[in-house]
Amino acid sequence: MIKENLEKIRATLPEQVTLVAVSKTKPVSDLQEAYDAGQRIFGENHALEMRDKHEVLPNDIQWHFIGHLQTNKIKYIIPFVTLIHSIDSANLLEAVNKEAKKHDRIVDCLLQFHIATEETKFGLDLDEARQLLSSDAFREMHNIRICGVMGMATFTDDTEQVHNEFRNLKSIFDTLKHDYFTEQPQFKEISMGMSDDYPIAIEEGATLVRVGSKIFGARNYLS
Ligand SMILES: *Cc1c(COP(=O)(O)O)cnc(C)c1O
Repeated sequence: MIKENLEKIRATLPEQVTLVAVSKTKPVSDLQEAYDAGQRIFGENHALEMRDKHEVLPNDIQWHFIGHLQTNKIKYIIPFVTLIHSIDSANLLEAVNKEAKKHDRIVDCLLQFHIATEETKFGLDLDEARQLLSSDAFREMHNIRICGVMGMATFTDDTEQVHNEFRNLKSIFDTLKHDYFTEQPQFKEISMGMSDDYPIAIEEGATLVRVGSKIFGARNYLS
């Protein structure tokens, strides 16, 4: 089923959109099945779970961290992570930079924005991002690279609202690109859209979609 699900989704994705297969809570055998069907990018939201899966699965997998990252867990993923989608504070970015330096790596990161109405979701607002990007501390961070933005829409059936929230993230991206990253081609990613709303996200300009349950089936517990 995983192979068929992947093929169905891939067939609907425009060329400029990259699929992150969100495999959190799923057993290694499910990830292997997706890998055998050609999937190379996987998204996880717990540091230790991602590290454990990384240790047993093929080396050419690109691991994307998509969940709220606690500072004391950074060390488990820094040696191998490809992209951290969920930078939601200046402190976290600074801590990632520090750990990346220890490993002599430059780690790609996205700034996560709070675009939903739900209070529970993490993320910066535009003012906080401006403060971060214009700070002296940021200028000293040589072991991270900001590659774009990430956001999660409100969980709602109101598709107009979801359109508006994704449009807002795209406009945040455009603003930051214009004000801070014009000369930096790596600032190009807009990570938005999950199983239920990724077609809307694509219409609004997503370059990375994070799809879990549509590939692997429903999860056993919410996370
Ligand atoms: C779980 C999760 C997803 C995938 O959710 P699905 O609805 O299963 O596709 C995407 N992004 C984040 C940040 C997640 O935590």
